[in-house]
Amino acid sequence: MADSVKISFAKFPATLEGFSVLLAASGAAGGRASLSAVAEALAAPAGDLLERAGAADRFEGKSGAVLDLLAPSGLSLPRLLVFGVGKAPDLRPIDWLTLGGSIMGKLPDSAGDVGILLDLPGVEVSAQAAAEVALGLRLRAYSFDRYKTKKKSEDAGKLRITLYVGDDAAAKRAWKKREGIGEGVVIARDLVNEPANVLTPTEFARRAGDLAKVGVDVEVMGEKDLKKIGMRALLGVGQGSDEESQVVVMRWNGGKSDAAPVAFIGKGVVFDTGGISIKPAAGMEDMKGDMAGAACVVGLMHALARRKAKVNAVGVIGLVENMPDGKAQRPGDIVTSMSGQTIEIINTDAEGRLVLGDVLWYTKERFKPRFMVNLATLTGAILVALGTENAGLFSNDDALAANLHEAGLETGEKVWRMPLSPEYDKLIDSKFADMKNTGGRFGGSITAAQFLQRFVGTVPWAHLDIAGTGMSSPQSEINRSWGGGWGVRLLDHLVAHQYED
Ligand code: MN
Ligand code: ZN
Repeated sequence: MADSVKISFAKFPATLEGFSVLLAASGAAGGRASLSAVAEALAAPAGDLLERAGAADRFEGKSGAVLDLLAPSGLSLPRLLVFGVGKAPDLRPIDWLTLGGSIMGKLPDSAGDVGILLDLPGVEVSAQAAAEVALGLRLRAYSFDRYKTKKKSEDAGKLRITLYVGDDAAAKRAWKKREGIGEGVVIARDLVNEPANVLTPTEFARRAGDLAKVGVDVEVMGEKDLKKIGMRALLGVGQGSDEESQVVVMRWNGGKSDAAPVAFIGKGVVFDTGGISIKPAAGMEDMKGDMAGAACVVGLMHALARRKAKVNAVGVIGLVENMPDGKAQRPGDIVTSMSGQTIEIINTDAEGRLVLGDVLWYTKERFKPRFMVNLATLTGAILVALGTENAGLFSNDDALAANLHEAGLETGEKVWRMPLSPEYDKLIDSKFADMKNTGGRFGGSITAAQFLQRFVGTVPWAHLDIAGTGMSSPQSEINRSWGGGWGVRLLDHLVAHQYED
């Protein structure tokens, strides 16, 4: 998709020809008064056309309302769209982002030119707002059609969109800072959507290696290396697969050379059959998305590097395939994790925590990070608790949890905090080993989080259970993709607003 839309900026006054998009606000003056101001801005002999059309359609400039005029008389335009934005002074970045997505949703798939006039009577549309609109356009335009051999012929061309703004130079600068975030989300979406016969652990690692092009340092460890450092919990998950397990370490060093890094860890089970505790057939195809946490980390590292974030950041992803096989791990097996703690396997489908336990421990020991945030499509139970509106947040640190919550509200990638406590922790004590990998039927997301906590020591840490958001992602104005790239914008925001020098 990345090149199906071309976005550029130009300065007012707009030459309104071709497909044009205007904005109107609601508020004290009323959307229709706003429409007459828009009509004036047209500087065309449209007369009271917009006001009459607005009245006929009860258009009042409310957020989400659209006035769609085909071949409006008195104007030479083939089509004019007027978008309501609600009360203009109250608009937050997320509102501009959403607006961009909504506009894209009304544009045709086919090639052509569209002009969007980012002007509101009496309101200054900032360069940042313009960049958010551009990001919303870009994210909505995404579609994963790599495997569609019969593409509609009219899709072949490019949609060229010009955003008309007061200060085009400033808008271009703002977009340059945001464009990489869009690319990061797209990278994450592509990875999640890709099927597991293509996206094996080694292919995933190879794609993560592309981050070198934007200045990220990438190291890949294969099974020999992982055996040497003792990641036996992770290796146990992949031992039933013909595909070699991998761990990828990505480093972006944009901060002071002696500053401890922030660390992001992702679960990358490229396909989860459940292993010997095999899953039922219905819906199993979705398990190609059981690597959405790792995908997010790759997208995030790209985004941080592209905007040259002033932070040292580490991304570590554990990539395995969970398959049943003559060599596969069994229920009852006991493995020794890299931390030295032993784990009794009760259910081979509770594999994500085994991967993450080793990767969290490794990250903590090697990098002594300022904090660790891990993302994992970890439990179906989080969907029962929270649906797809919020990801589950578990943390041993109130400040980090509060920062994540705030970043969720600002970006629309919302998180809801769930409990951790010694009473829950007890549920994963094992008869035969230090712990077991499931805690029984109730509180499944919580006992999974308790398991992870046993591998983080005293490092401030947060676990995001994204089983409800990372794959089969909620559809929105800026996302129509199964893999929504959830978390890239959230964590970029977290870093930008709380942890940069
Ligand atoms: Mn599983
Ligand atoms: Zn899984």
